[in-house]
Amino acid sequence: MSMVLKFYNTLSNKKEVFKPLKKGVVSMYNCGPTVYDYAHIGNFRAYIFADVLRRYLEYKGFKVKQVMNITDVGHMTVDEEADGKGEDKIEMKAKEEKKDPFQIAKEYEKAFFEDIKKLNIKKAMKYPRATDHIKEMIRTIETLIKKGCAYEANGSVYYDITRFKDYGKLSGNTVDKLKAGKRIDVIREKRNWFDFALWKKDPKHIMQWDSPWGRGFPGWHIECSVMGMKYLGDTLDIHTGGEDNIFPHHECEIAQAEGSTGKRFVRYWLHTRHLLVNGEKMSKSKGNFYTLRDLLEKGYDPKAIRYLLLSGHYRIRLNFTEEGLKSAEETVRRFQDFVSSLKGAKQKGKPNPKVKKLVKNVKKDFEEAMGDDLNISLALGKVFDFVREINKVISSGIGNKDAKLAYETMLGFDKVLGLKLDEVRFIKLYVGEKLKFKDSVSFLKLPKEVEKLIEKREKLRKEKKWKEADDIRNKIRKMGYILEDTETGVRVKKA
Ligand SMILES: [Zn+2]
Repeated sequence: MSMVLKFYNTLSNKKEVFKPLKKGVVSMYNCGPTVYDYAHIGNFRAYIFADVLRRYLEYKGFKVKQVMNITDVGHMTVDEEADGKGEDKIEMKAKEEKKDPFQIAKEYEKAFFEDIKKLNIKKAMKYPRATDHIKEMIRTIETLIKKGCAYEANGSVYYDITRFKDYGKLSGNTVDKLKAGKRIDVIREKRNWFDFALWKKDPKHIMQWDSPWGRGFPGWHIECSVMGMKYLGDTLDIHTGGEDNIFPHHECEIAQAEGSTGKRFVRYWLHTRHLLVNGEKMSKSKGNFYTLRDLLEKGYDPKAIRYLLLSGHYRIRLNFTEEGLKSAEETVRRFQDFVSSLKGAKQKGKPNPKVKKLVKNVKKDFEEAMGDDLNISLALGKVFDFVREINKVISSGIGNKDAKLAYETMLGFDKVLGLKLDEVRFIKLYVGEKLKFKDSVSFLKLPKEVEKLIEKREKLRKEKKWKEADDIRNKIRKMGYILEDTETGVRVKKA
């Protein structure tokens, strides 16, 4: 029996059976980073969710055409209002760092790709940049003007949302509601205060392009409609983003795309809830703001970070703590140990029927949970049960055929989880007999002096000279690094 796949569609506010438009192929668009800074772990929760979603669709045999945009112009600092005000985020950062805005975008785009690689996020089919699609955006804006949805005023172009009857269908912010609500805009040239800009005239803006309405730059929302349709067609199967994207960003995307084509833009809208850190909204002023790099510098394993960010259901707020991260490290290690003990099983003999049954059940349970709107916490619970039961079999001696079966089952799940469970685990910086320096995953760069001391201490430990080893550990501590001894090596963290 093929398991049903259901997603919670923000558009209908209910779980719907998922069926792509084209048999076997899923088109998916994910709102990507605005490249003015390092992405923070809240951003990564959304990207990892998109990655797990894609991986699960692939697990189910679909081909996934995935597109994620790179926003390098037009995203303003006040983005909770449809007609974003304030400053362009890229230009703000450019002023701060006294650089060219295009240079800023390039640098942080590079950082973004480094980060997603560390988190083992699969590469999308395409990462289109907004600034590479100015022509296409202008063309769509022209179409919207022709259709009467948009109007030019004083060198800017606005979307008249009273001309799009479906406005509000995603977020509930309909024209009637907006009319009754508090006025938040005073731009005189607009027909309605809630109209949003498609093209903006601002002589102070550094990044400018020629257009039929004069020099200017595109609004933030138009890029996603235009690039989504360019690479995936007028109607996409899935569009994801964070819950803060629902309004105004995605509401405006619908108005632009559907206003210009007359066709449905997105069939399934999936939104991840916010990430909290220590129970609060992340903010730089509260000191609970983390980029991936912050955590890697502290010595955490990117696999554990990935695990923690994917382990909660995407429609439930996830509370991130360092305690949670430490227990995520334990879990990942437990999974890795399990996989490696299965790999090492040599014992010949008759297969145990219990193993076959456990495998069959866990596969069914895993798919049932994931098929129900990607209930990953439930799915992981089933995997834990499986690990526990198989461990019981292992302790009384598992045959190589059974071990192989269980091993392949775990690696099958890992295709979805993306934890590279069969990779030799090197969160340690120093491992093995030869005390070789390993730095496969961390951004932590150790001073040569510290490296030498660690090597020296490892030798002393082997000779059971505990006192001397402890002295070195204290010395290293004073130099700003903490050592942790684990079964497979020494782990180094910044103090
Ligand atoms: Zn977007």
